[in-house]
Amino acid sequence: MTTGARTLAYLSAVPVERVKGIGPARARSLAKLGIASVADLLLHVPRRYLDRSRTFDLSDVPLGEEVTIFGTVLSTKRRRISGGRVMIDARISDGTNVVDAVWFNPYLKIEEGWEVAMSGTVSMYRGRLQMRSPELERFGAGSLAVGRIVPVHPAVAKLSPAKVRAAVDNALRRSRPIAEVLPPDLVERLGLVDRDTAFADVHFPDDLDAAARARRRLAFDELFRLEVGLALRKHRQVHEATGIVHDGAGELVDAYLAALPYELTGAQRRALDEIEADLRSPLPMHRLLQGEVGSGKTAVAVCAMLRAVSGGYQAAVMAPTEVLATQHYLGISAALAEAGLAPDRRAVADEVGTESLFAARRPGPEVAVALLTSNAVEVNFAPRASRSDVVGWVAAGDIDLVVGTHALIQEGVTFARLGLAVVDEQHRFGVYQRVMLREKSQGYDPDLLIMTATPIPRTLAMTLYGDLDVSLIDEMPPGRSPVRTRHVTAFDDTVHELIRSEVASGHQVFVVCPLVEDSDKLAVRSATAEYERLSASLDGLEVGLLHGQLRPAEKDAVMAEFRAGRIDVLVATTVIEVGVDVPNATTMVVIDADRFGLSQLHQLRGRVGRGAAPGTCVLIADPTTPEGERRIAAMVATTDGFALAEEDLRIRGQGTVLGARQAGMTDLKIADILRDADLLVHARREAFALVDDDPDLAHHRELAEELRILLGEDVAWLERS
Ligand code: ADP
Ligand code: MG
Repeated sequence: MTTGARTLAYLSAVPVERVKGIGPARARSLAKLGIASVADLLLHVPRRYLDRSRTFDLSDVPLGEEVTIFGTVLSTKRRRISGGRVMIDARISDGTNVVDAVWFNPYLKIEEGWEVAMSGTVSMYRGRLQMRSPELERFGAGSLAVGRIVPVHPAVAKLSPAKVRAAVDNALRRSRPIAEVLPPDLVERLGLVDRDTAFADVHFPDDLDAAARARRRLAFDELFRLEVGLALRKHRQVHEATGIVHDGAGELVDAYLAALPYELTGAQRRALDEIEADLRSPLPMHRLLQGEVGSGKTAVAVCAMLRAVSGGYQAAVMAPTEVLATQHYLGISAALAEAGLAPDRRAVADEVGTESLFAARRPGPEVAVALLTSNAVEVNFAPRASRSDVVGWVAAGDIDLVVGTHALIQEGVTFARLGLAVVDEQHRFGVYQRVMLREKSQGYDPDLLIMTATPIPRTLAMTLYGDLDVSLIDEMPPGRSPVRTRHVTAFDDTVHELIRSEVASGHQVFVVCPLVEDSDKLAVRSATAEYERLSASLDGLEVGLLHGQLRPAEKDAVMAEFRAGRIDVLVATTVIEVGVDVPNATTMVVIDADRFGLSQLHQLRGRVGRGAAPGTCVLIADPTTPEGERRIAAMVATTDGFALAEEDLRIRGQGTVLGARQAGMTDLKIADILRDADLLVHARREAFALVDDDPDLAHHRELAEELRILLGEDVAWLERS
């Protein structure tokens, strides 16, 4: 390291006001945009570069290529055009020819007599040279603007790119040399340029290659900071927690598996092995179980729960909706009854009296299962038990397996000894919820398994969910048929015909109604209208309606009718989005499909094609936005959830995906997790290795300091060096 070199941490303490050209007023508006220090300013990297080393005379300028020309402004004109917009016209001569330039930016300043540089493409319009909205710079504003690669910094706080450029130039001169804080062997191994060079070249490169190398280095640094932060967090989670060693015997699992009408797929086996290894370990599990809809995550989760139960612990499953919780409860208790591990709840329901029922299960090896949501309560050995009974039994440890909604951990439910929590479809299960779980279990950390059918691109798994281990079920059970997807612009006769013919061949159909942003009421109204319309146009067919404002008992009744095949066509809002499993339903019609997000469409489509008969998905949409068009096209093109998830990330941009939490450690300014995916892989590997070796960063003091300052809250617990 160069002596006297300044670290980013040091520069983070130097207010941006110290930079020439930035007074108190500008500093205040910059601060609002997150640029408070010199370090922030240096990390405000150009969004692109103009190659002003490619300058041309107008007499032989190539058309249609990015060029820079220099000249004198002969005349300017400002006009109001349609839509209240302003058009600015200027004629510029460089002595060899004249070009007309136009801008639609009312704030643009240009005056007759100025010497200017203009970068952009030149075209021929009505026999004259024209440039539309070129980057304009007054000539003589300094050597920074001409005859070289010119950075275009994102404009901030009314500072023009030229002003930002000048400020960065000043900041850079006074900050260099900038210290290297990464281990030198790492920098060398990955072939990165050093930090000082990177900051100099990202802002004022000699050529575009230098700019690319510089950006790559700074992107790496950003990803590396994030990954070290995640590695530290994970290390803490694991090593400062009190986990449970689940060492129960395998009988319950074996009995359950033996009674299943199928064999686990290889992928299910692998995932289960990974989970069981975590369960046996004294360190708490934080694992994400990923698998397409229908890949059979539930069976894997049930095995894990039975493993916990056989060791004397309780297990809980939390589902996102009541419908799904009920479905899990029914499925799990039926499978356990089938395996001889629990009473058949229907048989129990026929008995009378409750006192004896509880005693009845005690002698056997049975598994007591309860459903506990805000509206529903049931246990598999006593269907008429009251809510307070069930809550009491859970607290006393008499219930082994509790099925509820996500609210389960928020409500006043306590467990005697919760050993495993399974969370279905909430991969955003955060630090806060984990703390709640710990509180529910008297201070030790239950193992946590998060299941999701939302495919998470590898890059996101390494960032947003980077402190979780991941198991992937990447194989579907045999006998599934692919789903064919069609796009039509209206709910026309062909769609009605398709529905009729599917029903005629003994199958069932979902019709999902438009998403109504933030209004359950309106969604219900539109679903009801659609239900009435279809009841009329599909006369002779049994049409049902399911939406979020039905009472739980009504919802259950509708779902039961549909499962039993007494409803042919189920008109629904997105309440059916997750998990609903009716293999006889083969057709999914989505109305105004372009208004749904890609992952939601993928989830909806996953409701069909779950049985042997081929599925069809009909997307009704007349997209009004380019994004809507891209989503529909992607859905028609592929059923691969990971491909869709990556496309979704591309369409929405990483900002919306990562930046949901303001200024957290995933708030990336330079790196782009899709474009820089390879860097991310390196950053993660290096970061985890470094933290493994030096979990307190005792031998990486400057790096620790940088993390503390740049990641802030996220690593607030890092010791000051
Ligand atoms: P997921 O929760 O991953 O969407 P489920 O666990 O609901 O999927 O399983 C979907 C369906 O596949 C269920 O009906 C389940 O019984 C069945 N299933 C699960 N695993 C297998 C398997 N290995 N072979 C055949 N069918 C399976
Ligand atoms: Mg599921």
